[in-house]
Order: sequence, then C-alpha cells, then structure tokens
Amino acid sequence: KEKQDKDAKLRSRMDRISKKLVVMSGKGGVGKSTVAANMAVGLSLQGYRVGLLDLDVHGPSIPRLLSLTGEKPHMDKDFMEPVPWSRNLWVMSLGFLLPSNQDAVIWRGPVKMGLIRQFLQDVAWGELDYLVVDCPPGTGDEPMTVLQLLGEGTGAVIVTTPQAVAVDDVRRSVSFCRDMDTPVAGIVENMSGYVCHSCNEHLDIFTSGGGESLAREMNVPFLGRIPIDPEIVRSGDEGYIYVKTHPQSPAALIISSMLESV
Ligand code: ADP
Repeated sequence: KEKQDKDAKLRSRMDRISKKLVVMSGKGGVGKSTVAANMAVGLSLQGYRVGLLDLDVHGPSIPRLLSLTGEKPHMDKDFMEPVPWSRNLWVMSLGFLLPSNQDAVIWRGPVKMGLIRQFLQDVAWGELDYLVVDCPPGTGDEPMTVLQLLGEGTGAVIVTTPQAVAVDDVRRSVSFCRDMDTPVAGIVENMSGYVCHSCNEHLDIFTSGGGESLAREMNVPFLGRIPIDPEIVRSGDEGYIYVKTHPQSPAALIISSMLESV
C-alpha cells in the first residue's frame, strides 16, 4: 500500500512535466553537467518553465555552476521546494543536502538509489515545460533507476568527447537507452576542436567527428559539436552561465541550435 502511494505520487509529479531531457555520458569529465546547465538556462531564456535536477550522486556540480552553493531548499514533511534561479528556472541538487561541498559522497548503492527516488517523488516542481536532468555517468544501477522512474516523455541527450575511447562509451550508452526503452534525443560532441578567437579558424585538437559518425551508424540524431572554449571553464569556475553571458560565441550558438532539435 505504501509503495503504491509512493508510485502514485511519483507519477502525478512526473505527469505535470511535458518533456524530460536526461543528460547522460559514458564517463565523468566530458562536460555533462556543463551541457545540462547551459541547456536548462538556454530553454529558460526562450521563455519555457524549466527545472534543472542534479542527480549526479558522485559529485553534484550544478550548485557551483549556477552560483547556488550553500542554498538550502525548503523541506516539508512530504515535499521539497526547488531553489529558484530566475523567474522560470528552478534547481534541485543532491549537493544542497550535503553538509559542505568538500564532502566526498560515499553513500552505498541502495542509499543512492533511494535518494534518486526520493528526489523524483518529492521535489515540488509544479507544471514544467522541461525538466533537464544531470544523470550520474555510466550505464549502471543509478542511471537505470533514473530512466525507470522518469518514465514516459523522456529523451536522452548523450554527451561525449570526440576521441575513439569516448565513442565506445557512447555506443554502450545508446544500447543502454534502447534496453530501457528511452528514446535518444541525440548525441553531442563536446570539446570538439577549438575555434581561434583571432582568426575564427576551427582547429581539431583531438581527433574529431567520432560522435557524429557513431550517431549515423546507430541511427540516432547528431545534435552538434561544441568547441573547446576557455571561457566555458571560467564560467563554470565562477558560477555564471556561458549561454547567457556569451550568447554569440560559437559554442553558445551550437547549444542554442541543439535546443531546437531536442
Ligand atoms: P562532467 O559533468 O561530465 O563530469 P563537467 O561539466 O563538470 O563534466 O566538465 C568538466 C570540465 O570541463 C569543467 O571544468 C568544465 O568547465 C570543462 N568544460 C566542459 N565543456 C567544455 C568546453 N566545451 N570547453 C572548455 N571546457 C569545457
């Protein structure tokens, strides 16, 4: 009975969200959180009502990316209020619940899965056009729980870097989504080349194009190549959002065009 009540609560929360975008990656460090944060802000700048949910139990980085470290969301007996970032973007992160951002997250598997479930069930988003989810990396139990619980209306955005090793991870991620019946909204190749600011020439620092050819091979959409931009690193470190502060930069233009296809 209690389980049924919880399932009903989860479904009624999720039913009020038109579209869920799960940002996934084969491994950490490819720019998954950066892409998730910029997509969420990009959608909010287009006027949509957007939620950004950070479920990366290994290292929640969304609070820092959005200058929201130290925020404590309001908690009630059976719901939590997300933290407002603007009048139409709300944020919730496991990082808000940790005592300090220095603390390594050493919860055991079942605890992590319980937290993911509790977040999806208890965060009171209200009506949203989009929920952007920063998913734990890989294809293990945690991302599996995320996809299962989000249910219908979910699309996966898979972030990769261009090197061949990363591309093998994407292949696994695409198969994983297929096994979970989650449609792949597309693959993003991040840190794909460098656009010289003085001459506008595109330099491929790593090999590139791996994500694009894999997308073709696996018959999923390719959303674009986001170049390396030192300003993205700075924005992440300092907590401002790149698509908002550098809307005309090559990387921001790619992120905006991605939003048209998801
Ligand atoms: P993940 O969530 O996959 O672990 P992050 O989003 O935390 O990765 O990004 C890892 C690091 O790479 C951060 O310092 C971030 O600022 C940087 N980064 C991400 N994308 C780019 C890019 N296109 N150009 C330059 N730096 C980037």
